[in-house]
Amino acid sequence: MTAQTPIKPDIQVAPVEHFIDGTYTPGDGERFDTLNPATNRPITTVAAGTAEDIDQAVRAARRAFDEGPWPRMTARERGVYLRRVGDLIMTYADELARLETLDSGVPLKQTSTALIPRAAENFYFFAEEARRLHEAIYPVEGEFLNYTTRYPIGVAGLITPWNVPFMLETWKIAPCLAAGDTCVLKPAEWSPLSANFLGRVMQEAELPQGVFNIVQGIGETAGAALVAHPGVQLISFTGETSTGQEIMRNAAATLKRTSMELGGKSPIVVFPDADLDRALDAAVFGVYSLNGERCTASSRLILHASIYDNFTARLTERVKRIRVGDPFDLATEVGPLIHPTHKERVLSYLEIGRQEGARLAVGGNSIPGPGNYVEPTLFLDGRNDMRIAQEEIFGPVLTVIPFTDEAEAVRIANDVRYGLAAYVWTNDIKRGHRVASSIKSGMVWVNSQNVRDLRTPFGGAKDSGIGREGGEHSFHFYSETRTIYVALGEHRITKFGV
Ligand code: NAD
Repeated sequence: MTAQTPIKPDIQVAPVEHFIDGTYTPGDGERFDTLNPATNRPITTVAAGTAEDIDQAVRAARRAFDEGPWPRMTARERGVYLRRVGDLIMTYADELARLETLDSGVPLKQTSTALIPRAAENFYFFAEEARRLHEAIYPVEGEFLNYTTRYPIGVAGLITPWNVPFMLETWKIAPCLAAGDTCVLKPAEWSPLSANFLGRVMQEAELPQGVFNIVQGIGETAGAALVAHPGVQLISFTGETSTGQEIMRNAAATLKRTSMELGGKSPIVVFPDADLDRALDAAVFGVYSLNGERCTASSRLILHASIYDNFTARLTERVKRIRVGDPFDLATEVGPLIHPTHKERVLSYLEIGRQEGARLAVGGNSIPGPGNYVEPTLFLDGRNDMRIAQEEIFGPVLTVIPFTDEAEAVRIANDVRYGLAAYVWTNDIKRGHRVASSIKSGMVWVNSQNVRDLRTPFGGAKDSGIGREGGEHSFHFYSETRTIYVALGEHRITKFGV
């Protein structure tokens, strides 16, 4: 496992600016470098948004909401724009995939075939979903007809992490716009490039001015100013649990509605009666794809003792053969981690795992040379109370923990502060449903890797989040429910002051 010399990607990247009121603008703040994770050389510079930049962007979004056509259009009319955005993402898919790979280190094979097309799909899906919404009716015995309707809320602040940035940004922007809100996106500072491209896409889609804005920059300044701004009603956040806690505290002062998509430490439980070939494929893909920088990564493999030796032997061989290298090489399966700081964090867990006494079967080291390359790592004979089994590492690291009976598997799966995703492999239909409904997490996949229908609710339990996004659930967040009570007859009104 050695990192190959990165192929020089043929991409010229202009300095990254904010996108406010339909125009790119450099802002008055300082600039910082965004690095190529394969070399750690600067790709370009990025505007570090200030409170003043945030204020301008929020004012533009506010004007677009209060005075512009966007919230007053029908869902069908907004859908025309959203589909155009989806089409433009597909038109520029190659360029976007290369930018995303250059900026994030996720292999081009994965950005080009999965992540960028999925971003377009987010727009196509929510363009339609906004028209499919249905409301509730509460008839009262011929006296009243009560029913609900929805309306857009205002300006949303969308704050996103550096992993799979374009997919996650569009996962928020599409339902936000479909609901009739306007927004200010604050992308993560370590991967700002693909978000920057979105301004151009929105210009070409002729989105009304001010509906979509971007302020680039640092979380503690630009992000915090967005959270504090009184002109913002909604904050949709994806990122670390500790940041989510900070944002909720800060959002309380202006009573913002918040959606929190946070960290995870998801179990994959494999029973002896499973299709073990497929379970092995899923276990490897689930934690080593996207460089292991995946919120739903199956980073704890809970494996039945009767298949332990055989399964881990095969697993070890597979992990040894994972192709690490230049993310632009289409054969690469794991690329460099996003940033030197993150690499250090992941490496610190490899040391912790050794000290805790887990058996290091594969990897465990940094890969020499430029870039943030870390060997795909496999720890066997882990215990669930180890830090490598409890804490989110967010890298290509899997910890395997044996179990002997179903109750123990469920107990281990649940014995963690997080509750984002879980995966269960068994061919016993009763056990599959039983275990799935015993695991306290927002999502459980049975005999499946992380395949998701956009209609289904996505989100975490416990420290993995509050709220659900996806399908109609996104609209519960991005729109306000209004109940209308209509008297059908002459109900009694108590007379005062007669
Ligand atoms: P992070 O919390 O460090 O940063 C996320 C975003 O918040 C960035 O844009 C950052 O600039 C901003 N931010 C930081 N401090 C802020 C503050 N005080 N006020 C406002 N904004 C602030 O997260 P990260 O390291 O970029 O991303 C990795 C984390 O995201 C992991 O924990 C991962 O599990 C989680 N994640 C969760 C999901 C999910 O859907 N549940 C999806 C992807 C990633």
